[in-house]
Amino acid sequence: MAIPRIRFDQITKSYGSLRVIDGLSLDIAKGEFISLLGPSGSGKTTLLMILAGFESATGGGVWLDGKRIDHLPPYRRDMGVVFQNYALFPHMTVADNIAFPLQMRGVRKAEIAERVKRALDMVQLGAMSERYPAQLSGGQQQRIALARALVFEPAVVLMDEPLGALDKQLREQMQLDIRKLHMRLGLTVVFVTHDQSEALTMSDRIAVFNKGIIEQIGTPREIYDHPATRFVAEFIGETN
Ligand code: ADP
Repeated sequence: MAIPRIRFDQITKSYGSLRVIDGLSLDIAKGEFISLLGPSGSGKTTLLMILAGFESATGGGVWLDGKRIDHLPPYRRDMGVVFQNYALFPHMTVADNIAFPLQMRGVRKAEIAERVKRALDMVQLGAMSERYPAQLSGGQQQRIALARALVFEPAVVLMDEPLGALDKQLREQMQLDIRKLHMRLGLTVVFVTHDQSEALTMSDRIAVFNKGIIEQIGTPREIYDHPATRFVAEFIGETN
């Protein structure tokens, strides 16, 4: 692999005596869509938080495009985030929500308006800019969260169960939309899910997590056809 977009090198994370990430190394290529798949409590969210800069690792290092980023605050990391628990600001309009990351980065006002409009068009919600989040459906709110993550044109987008709260039909629509944006914008996407079929349909590669380590990594085909361990076979074979 050329210089990977993202490199985790020997990451460990402990909370007191509980080790939740255990010497994990992983390279993610530019433009790759990778899912971190595994049961609840296996360390997926923790790894994403370390990558986003909301948590620091106990040991090991994180690189972006060949540069170490461990010491950088989240807003200096060139990464958009769509987290379940990182919701829209309820007291701000849709437009202000999307403008927020640009304001944080000191973008000029005229340019902000332009880019907010483009981001809203990208998720097909141009008409909603003056509404408040509570006036939108769950699916629309998720699209706005996506627009907010993409508005500063980050190289990398991190998503933690972004579709968990949506009904099946909306979920499948959003899966398609996210895939399309990934392709069109050449994004590198790190996508956390506990849903096997979601990971299998969306990803270029899947890293199967178990107790703070990667049990297997490969294309959906490889993981599905040749599970390397009993754990992977059983987890992939489970239906939701
Ligand atoms: P997943 O995303 O795979 O469900 P998490 O990364 O959220 O897993 O959690 C991994 C483990 O770390 C769990 O056992 C969880 O209880 C623990 N954990 C996560 N955050 C904290 C915290 N702030 N303090 C203590 N334990 C935590």
